[in-house]
Amino acid sequence: MTEKIKENRKFIIEDISNGLERFPVSLIYDEIKEFEELRNIFYKYVNNCVTLPGTTSDSYYDGCDCKDDCESEDCGCKSTHGFFYVSRGLNPAFLQSTSILPNISVYECNSNCSCSSVKCPNRLTQHGVSLPLQIFKSNSGCGWGVRSHTRKIRKGEFVCEYAGEIIKTDGAKRRWITAKEKNEDNYILCLKEHVKDRILRTNIDPTHIGNVGRFINHSCDSNLQIFLTRINSLIPTAALFAKRDIEINEELSFDYAGGMNDNNDNIQEININTERKKCLCGSQYCKKFLPFDQSL
Ligand SMILES: [Zn+2]
Ligand SMILES: [Zn+2]
Ligand SMILES: [Zn+2]
Repeated sequence: MTEKIKENRKFIIEDISNGLERFPVSLIYDEIKEFEELRNIFYKYVNNCVTLPGTTSDSYYDGCDCKDDCESEDCGCKSTHGFFYVSRGLNPAFLQSTSILPNISVYECNSNCSCSSVKCPNRLTQHGVSLPLQIFKSNSGCGWGVRSHTRKIRKGEFVCEYAGEIIKTDGAKRRWITAKEKNEDNYILCLKEHVKDRILRTNIDPTHIGNVGRFINHSCDSNLQIFLTRINSLIPTAALFAKRDIEINEELSFDYAGGMNDNNDNIQEININTERKKCLCGSQYCKKFLPFDQSL
């Protein structure tokens, strides 16, 4: 990471992903110590979730036999799972859903498909960050935040995933306790899916190893919506899509609780400093406290 001093005396790191993402993820800050504090905690950028030994991530899904772009109705992926994307974005119909996670899991063409990894419209989140993003010191009082500083984001567009270490639930509990003892923030996202009579649980911890998604703040009236997507593995990706058009430099946010509905217990962030940390989103729909996973 190389640092440069800009004329307005802010520091900027041009790309904290070091070329891992298709588009640069810049980081802008006022004081060197802000960056040093961050680097002590967040020490590795990854563009996909990393799994610990023992967590399977082998290719699992069958692929299609399409030659090029999966436009044909015969596409095996289309007939098995349906297509979720239109014009390189999420079909807006899915953004209207009120209880998204139990019902919708997005499937993309995968490494078993013979279609073109570039031309196939059923491959979107697998390409990573889809536009230049910037991490900055948010003036909402929530520390770092993320914005698109070069262009607007249109409704349905994929922005980035929430990537980090995939950890087991007992590991998540341990980390939760350690962070609490050290009085550190914690970013573990617990995703729960109801599959028949079971709950499938995925815990993502981007505290030390993660991507730009780690820096996106919670809002009770967010402009991004999380969807679970599956590509090569049973382990889902937590993909963030624009719920509406988003202005240039508008701070990005998602509802850690899944948002769409008050009873939705499918996504909950564990936040450490107090068990119910105050929400600072400032929206008229604010629920006053950040979501907290009672089961940890
Ligand atoms: Zn296909
Ligand atoms: Zn396919
Ligand atoms: Zn395809």
